[in-house]
Amino acid sequence: MTQDAEKDIIIGLECHVQLDTESKLFCGCPTTADEPNSACCEVCLGFPGSRPVLNKKALDYALKVSMALNCEINKEFFFSRKTYFYPDMSKNFQITQYEIPVGKNGYLTLSSGKKIKIERVHIEEDPAALVHESGMVMSKQTLVDYNRSGVPLVEIVTAPDMQSPQEARDFLDQLTTVLQYLGVFDEKDGTLKIDSNLSIKGNERVEVKNVTGKKGVEKALAFEAVRQKGVILKGETISRETRAFNEQTFTTRALRSKETEADYGYIFEPDLPAFELGEKYLNSIKQGLPELHDAKAKRFVQQYSLDEYTAGVLSRNSSLGGIFEEAVKSVDVGLAAKFLTRELLGILNYNNLSFEATEIKVEELVGLMQMLEKGDVSEKNAKQALIKYILEGVSPSKFIEEQGLKKDLDETGLQKAIETVLDENRPAVADFKKGEEKSLHFLVGKVMQATKGKADARDIQKKLKEKIEAE
Ligand SMILES: [Zn+2]
Repeated sequence: MTQDAEKDIIIGLECHVQLDTESKLFCGCPTTADEPNSACCEVCLGFPGSRPVLNKKALDYALKVSMALNCEINKEFFFSRKTYFYPDMSKNFQITQYEIPVGKNGYLTLSSGKKIKIERVHIEEDPAALVHESGMVMSKQTLVDYNRSGVPLVEIVTAPDMQSPQEARDFLDQLTTVLQYLGVFDEKDGTLKIDSNLSIKGNERVEVKNVTGKKGVEKALAFEAVRQKGVILKGETISRETRAFNEQTFTTRALRSKETEADYGYIFEPDLPAFELGEKYLNSIKQGLPELHDAKAKRFVQQYSLDEYTAGVLSRNSSLGGIFEEAVKSVDVGLAAKFLTRELLGILNYNNLSFEATEIKVEELVGLMQMLEKGDVSEKNAKQALIKYILEGVSPSKFIEEQGLKKDLDETGLQKAIETVLDENRPAVADFKKGEEKSLHFLVGKVMQATKGKADARDIQKKLKEKIEAE
């Protein structure tokens, strides 16, 4: 698809983010449980006479999200009942915010610098989970697990400001970074469910419901863009509808013609009071906001003279930025930046691991960087130790010690190893003399092996060449 073709694509997102609280939004039930239907009570099931009470932590978190997304805060608000009948909601209504959301009119900046308008941030409870037997949608039985009923969510609704599936993906990447910095969302265990809508300028809007995860949204939108353009090319009309995404085939299929929000019949929630937030409370939330990633990246450029790209990579994850700042107290800035962005992130990406999934200790990483800086270990062996640490939790200093990888090789030792390798591999030496560069690499490898990677490859190559040329 060319850039021109994407100018007429219009995308908006509604992101449902599970807030990382211990208890549910309106009762004391825990948000995690092993046994199905073991974490529910009369409030989250909606028994007659039960009274919801708002979880203060969920409100704190929703305000943090709103402020971090540059929203205006509605100091006075109330909750509403969104009425619908479906087995995932035993009360036949969901408590949400409709008329007055907690935050409105904010924005989030993409990596390109483009600002995406945030129309609203509101608090709502999650419905139950429907479990289709054997995982098939068309199976005979469907089970309901009410443990999810009442889990706190914030819904973040954007204006239709995005113009390609890639931009939507970037928005979600930036959003999860903000949420991770705020510490309100657990990307490992929490859910991120997204309803996206896409239209081709001048045509009806199509909604793709309930896609889990960032990659899924990008794929669903990419499919929709091509599908809708195909419909238009055939001279047919795009109908306003809701579609479901198939995670196996990366395609969407029609579910139903789109209902409007007004169809749900919202009414004021009479069991909860109207809320009025005090200045003092709002200020305390505001003052508790951490430095966010774009501010941190700018500071890294100024304070440590890093280039913008490296500063951006280091600040994308709050833990990584923290490790960097701890490291540069005792290690050279350039070495720390290179080690963390290339080696550490390289290993994590290669093994498809998130930062949060590992138990990395700052002291261990700083210790390894110090050894590298002092020349106590070669780059190759430092990387080996890092891999062992990330994947198996083996302390790098212990690994280097036990494997005898400490760089205790002196000049005589290296020269001796080179001589032995040259003696034992005469055919390769002869090939190199005939002009075969490959043979030199082979010999370098042999010396590396003999010296357990303690010497620098470039140094070995230089010395090998000198030795052979002197023969
Ligand atoms: Zn409950």
